Amino acid sequence: MNIIPNATFAALGTTVFTVMSALANEHNAVNLGQGFPDTDGPEDVRAVAARALMEASNQYPPMRGLPALRQAVARHEARFYGLEVDPDRGVLVTSGATEALTASIMAFVNPGDEVILIEPAYDSYLPIVRQAGATPRFLRLEPPRWRLEEDRLAALITPKTKLLILNTPHNPVGRVFSEEELEMVSRLTCHHGFLVVSDEVYEHIVFDGKRHRPLITFPGMGERTLKIASAGKTFSLTGWKVGMVTAAPALIDQVAKVHQFLTFTTPPNLQAAVAYGLGKEDAYFDGLIADMQAKRDRLSAGLAPLGFNVLPSEGTYFLTCDYAKLSSEDDVTFAKRLVVEVGVATIPLSPFVEGGWPHRLIRFCFAKQDAVLEEGLARLRRYFGT
Ligand code: PMP
Ligand code: GLN
Repeated sequence: MNIIPNATFAALGTTVFTVMSALANEHNAVNLGQGFPDTDGPEDVRAVAARALMEASNQYPPMRGLPALRQAVARHEARFYGLEVDPDRGVLVTSGATEALTASIMAFVNPGDEVILIEPAYDSYLPIVRQAGATPRFLRLEPPRWRLEEDRLAALITPKTKLLILNTPHNPVGRVFSEEELEMVSRLTCHHGFLVVSDEVYEHIVFDGKRHRPLITFPGMGERTLKIASAGKTFSLTGWKVGMVTAAPALIDQVAKVHQFLTFTTPPNLQAAVAYGLGKEDAYFDGLIADMQAKRDRLSAGLAPLGFNVLPSEGTYFLTCDYAKLSSEDDVTFAKRLVVEVGVATIPLSPFVEGGWPHRLIRFCFAKQDAVLEEGLARLRRYFGT
C-alpha cells in the first residue's frame, strides 16, 4: 500500500492559531492569540440566519452564491467604494475567505509561475502557492513602519510573475497601506501585467478616521484584482465562513471553476443573513470601528508601561508588540512562556515569514470583552510589573 502523502501538505505542521489556542485551553490562559471576537455579532443578523434555516430552502443554493447575497455585495461595493459590480457575473460567494484565497490562487497559477508574497504573510497563502507549483518570491516588510518600498517590489518582478498577494488591512502587523503605496502597487501591476489577489477581510476595521480603499478601485486595477472579503470579520461571526470575491467577470468565471470542486456552495441560511447584514445602517459599521478602536487603545495603554513596545495598529483587531526589553528569547519560546507562566496566549510572528527572523515580535488580539482584556493585562502586570 502506498500511503505517501502529498509533499506540500506533509511538510506542514498545524497552524499556529490552532496550536496557541490549544495551549491556551490546556493552561487556562486568557486567549489573546487566535483572531476571533469573544462575543457574537449582531443579533438581527443571527436571527435572519435562524429564520432562514427553518423557513427557507436548505438544499444547494446556486453555485456562485444566493442571488440575494450577490446583489447585496454589489450594493455594498457601490455604497462604500463607489464601485460598479455586476451581481450576476462579478461576484462569487465562497466558504470563507480561506476558500476564496485558495480558489483564486488555483484558478490562475500554473507550475513555473512566480507569485509575490508580502511578509509577514497570512499563513494560508504559501502552501497553496507551493501546491500550485509556483515559485514564491518574498517581499519582507520591516518593522516598525512595515512600508511597501517600490524598489524592493520592482526587484522581485520578472516575466514569470503571475500574481501578487496583497493584504490590507494587514494581519498580523495591523498596517493599512497608504494611497501612495497602493498607487505604486497598481502602477507596477499594470505595467508588468500580472494579477493581484487582494485579501481585504478587515475592510471594515480601520481606525483613526481613515477609510479603507480597495485596490480594485485604483486606475487599471478593475480587470486585474480579485478583492476578497469575509463575513466572519465584518459581522464578528468567524465560525460562519462566508467569503466573497469581487472581480471582473472574466476573472470570476475562472475562480468559479475551482470553487465548484472545492466546496460548490456555502450554507444558504448564512448567505441570506450576510445579505441582510451587508445592508445594515451606517451606525453598525461605525460602531464596529469605534468598539474595536477603544479596545485597541485599552490594550495598548496597558501593555506599554510593562515594557512592551507597542507598534501602531491602523486596522484589523491585532496589535503587534516588540518584547526585546523583556526577553531575549525567540518569539515562539517567549509566546509559549507567556501561556504557561503568565496565563496569556498571543501569537508569535515568525510563523508568518520563511526562514530566519531577527525580530522579537508577538501579536495580541484585542477583539475581546473589556473584562477579558483587563484580566490579561492584570496577569501580565503581576508577572512583568515592577
Ligand atoms: N485572510 C486573513 C488576513 C485573515 O486574517 C483571515 C481570518 N482567518 C482569513 C483570510 C480567513 O477568513 P475566513 O475565516 O473568512 O476564511
Ligand atoms: N485569521 C485568524 C487569526 O489571524 C485565525 C484564523 C484561523 O485560526 N485559521 O488569528
